[in-house]
Amino acid sequence: MTSSTKSAESADERTTTVLRERAFAAMERAYAPYSRFRVGAALLGTDGSIAEGCNVENASYPVGMCAERTAVAAAVARGVRTFSTIVIATEADEPTPPCGMCRQFLEEFSPHMAVYTFTRDGKHAHWTLDELLPRAFTPRSLEQHR
Ligand SMILES: [Zn+2]
Repeated sequence: MTSSTKSAESADERTTTVLRERAFAAMERAYAPYSRFRVGAALLGTDGSIAEGCNVENASYPVGMCAERTAVAAAVARGVRTFSTIVIATEADEPTPPCGMCRQFLEEFSPHMAVYTFTRDGKHAHWTLDELLPRAFTPRSLEQHR
């Protein structure tokens, strides 16, 4: 798959391994009775902290949340708002990038962050968020309106 890392802030290999383990552990805790597509995420703050997330579905389907966004919410609730790397773990056969809504959600805080995704058998892909969401709508887009 496509791989490229332009961010100088992205995690080193050892940190990525830790993030991967934490993402798979979070995936095990996913609440995904409807899609049965469990996802975990581990988000590395620029302060070195790690926040985990998993998908949390709901009987009212659109109410469900992706792992990436629950990880961001957990970090923000602890006061962390800038991130260098997110690692996503799934049970899919091929590495799965974040959905469009999550790309936008991540963009708000760290548009240049590294995004890694892993399958259980070790297949992986990585990008920068800039690559996944070019020409993004950002907080600056709102400022231009004022
Ligand atoms: Zn998503």
